Amino acid sequence: MTKYNPDQIEERWQKFWNEEGFYHSDIDHNKTKYYVLEMFPYPSGKLHMGHMRVYSIGDVLARFLRMRGFNVIHPMGWDAFGLPAENAAIENRVNPARWTEKNIEQMKKQQNRLGISYDWRREINTSSPDYYRWSQWLFLLMYKRKLAYKKKASVNWCSDCATVLANEQVEKGLCWRCSSPVETRELEQWFLRITDYADRLLYDLDKLDNWPERVKVMQQNWIGRSEGAEIVFKIKEFPGEEIRTFTTRPDTLFGVTSMVLAPEHPLVKKLVEDTERETEVLDFVAKVRQESEIERTAEEAPKIGLFTGCHVINPINGEEVPILVGNYVLMAYGTGAVMGVPAHDQRDFLFAKKHGLPVRVVIQPDGEELSDQTMTEAYTGDGKMVNSGPYNGLDNVEGIGRVTAYLADNGLGGFQVGYRLRDWLISRQRYWGAPIPIIYCEKCGALPVPDADLPVELPLEVELSGNRVPSLAHYEDFMHTLCPTCGGPALRETDTMDTFICSSWYFMRFTSPQSDDAPFEPRAVDYWMPVDQYIGGIEHAVLHLLYARFFTKVLFDAGLVKTEEPFSRLLAQGMVYKDGAKMSKSKGNVVTPDEIVEKYGADTGRLFILFASPPEKDLDWNDQGVEGCHRFLRRIWRLIEECREEFDTTAGNSEYTGKEADLERSVHAAIKKVTHDVQDRFNFNTAISAIMELVNAIYTYRQSVENNDHNHGVVRDAIEKTVLLLAPFAPHLAEESWHNLGFSESVHLQKWPVYEPDKLVVENIEVVFQINGKVRGRVTVPADSTEEQLIEEAHHNERIKELLAGREVVKVIAVPGRLVNIVVR
Ligand SMILES: [Zn+2]
Ligand SMILES: [Zn+2]
Repeated sequence: MTKYNPDQIEERWQKFWNEEGFYHSDIDHNKTKYYVLEMFPYPSGKLHMGHMRVYSIGDVLARFLRMRGFNVIHPMGWDAFGLPAENAAIENRVNPARWTEKNIEQMKKQQNRLGISYDWRREINTSSPDYYRWSQWLFLLMYKRKLAYKKKASVNWCSDCATVLANEQVEKGLCWRCSSPVETRELEQWFLRITDYADRLLYDLDKLDNWPERVKVMQQNWIGRSEGAEIVFKIKEFPGEEIRTFTTRPDTLFGVTSMVLAPEHPLVKKLVEDTERETEVLDFVAKVRQESEIERTAEEAPKIGLFTGCHVINPINGEEVPILVGNYVLMAYGTGAVMGVPAHDQRDFLFAKKHGLPVRVVIQPDGEELSDQTMTEAYTGDGKMVNSGPYNGLDNVEGIGRVTAYLADNGLGGFQVGYRLRDWLISRQRYWGAPIPIIYCEKCGALPVPDADLPVELPLEVELSGNRVPSLAHYEDFMHTLCPTCGGPALRETDTMDTFICSSWYFMRFTSPQSDDAPFEPRAVDYWMPVDQYIGGIEHAVLHLLYARFFTKVLFDAGLVKTEEPFSRLLAQGMVYKDGAKMSKSKGNVVTPDEIVEKYGADTGRLFILFASPPEKDLDWNDQGVEGCHRFLRRIWRLIEECREEFDTTAGNSEYTGKEADLERSVHAAIKKVTHDVQDRFNFNTAISAIMELVNAIYTYRQSVENNDHNHGVVRDAIEKTVLLLAPFAPHLAEESWHNLGFSESVHLQKWPVYEPDKLVVENIEVVFQINGKVRGRVTVPADSTEEQLIEEAHHNERIKELLAGREVVKVIAVPGRLVNIVVR
């Protein structure tokens, strides 16, 4: 008998599968396609457990669906631009491109060692010119469709790193990387007009029936659509000027007691110019602008405001209201001006209390009497309008429409939809990214790089300066070019693109990665898209998924793809913990895929990761659990080895009794359960349990027959089915076993087993129904009916129902296989 030796069998089969091109798939209109995709990784060089988990999930599906007869595409690639390569360049004095190449090589080896079934012909690397050429081309498509534009914007700036930081990269006002203070700067930046697609991105969420609800809610909140009114306020001291503001509560317009402007609001300077308040206000503005948006808008942050000395005129009642500058109002959201209604907005309430502004109740709830004097917090609910002139007594919901109509009729504003979503800032002042393909000519202005001149290639030799990789502005050869229109000297754009652009369309490139006259071939993208099953972390619930949806819609509008949504089904897998904590170096609780593969083999690691927890739930790494999975695989191995010997040495019998029927039933029950759990519910853990039960059933049968006089036919069938069911989970062991059973073709080319419903039917028996111990009925039920099923059966029996009518049931006793006794009073 040979021993289970994963080391030896796994690498052998991996080599075989790769050499035979097992996982290559091509367009085939006679088959139903299925696109399985795991979010492609950043090539850090190290595969961690989170990776192993997501790839194992994807691989089970891909292998299962292939056996089910689908034409499965399962590609993998590298999201290779981004900051870590620059940091590594500084630390190790290596070229970012070389560093990235090396990491890719390393991670690919690790992925292959897990036996993941990728079609490596489709591999892409977003930092290679033949990929980013098309990222640039897509940027220009946006530019030509007026969806890419440049404007001045306030950004978080770290002068030490000489770069713009995303909000998430600012921690307590400091740069996450170097801890120097972050300031706000006005820079010319490139944006994509994602706000043009806000409504479609919102409403099309309804079409995504197979997305987790929480992801859809997160996207919905991020888009943040709200209906309300735009209101125009004239300024008393500057009759020609006006301030526009958006509110969802125009019904509270009579309760306005202040107007608060963002420090960045273009009017602030003018309002205080040459007044005694000028220095104080402008100093305040400068100070606030040093702070990040997150700090300014944090709930616990103090709401500070300064009076400008000017007033707006309330368009509905002509009242004069002071204008302040407040730290918590952001220019980038809405209009940068907020009308303060302290009685009916909590933030305004806190601000008014702090600055002694009046509170005026204009909505009175039913059955309660609010008073300006006694309120301790704002009232934001519905009610009757009061202190509101001609609207007094009106229901406030009706008031919203009436006030809005008044404003519209009088040219003072009107209905408007507001969004929290802002345009996507894509400029990065970084070296390691796709250069933005724009040329600036003094005579002709900003011009797109002609398609024929793409890609605009990154200079490959990096000149490190001190502790940073300088941006493209430092590369003279790169910067100077000729104007495509007049031929005169011109300069290139030196910003590179946000890496989220590269990952917004890679799933389409996978359909035809060699295409060199378009980002993808129409026939390939039409055949393979959309992605049928996308798998990745919940941390991508908003940005990546929203950007990918946005790109897909733009490409749809441009007639380049036929699908408006890129991902039909989405699975957000949970985290991997160890001993209740996130795996981290500092806690010393890191387990790497390499260690597990070395100790137990890839099949054990994959099986444990799928068995320990359903994919959407967090997973606690547990060494005993890994051991247990390894023992289970050894158990299967031993079983097959024993049976093989037996098939060779004993004749067996052809007896078919209750025992053989039981085993057959176990086989068909397992097929049914595994199929259902994998296909409809991704409950890989319960699917694996079902395989374990089947293995137990085979052992039980073998032990129950005396003198090893087994029915070889039934045992053999049970074992073959076990191996087929196991193939997606433990692909190497299944492959080796399949061959050991005498087959010459790969197990992964076999058809998925199908269960026969009549093989599932168990024998029927008769049970009696009793009331107070007297037999009142008989019924035939499956022999394995449980207590609950029997009681249920009794309650549905017409005669029993009649006899129970009007009587109180005290107790119900069910004895499986025999009776149900109902005790009544
Ligand atoms: Zn920094
Ligand atoms: Zn020119």
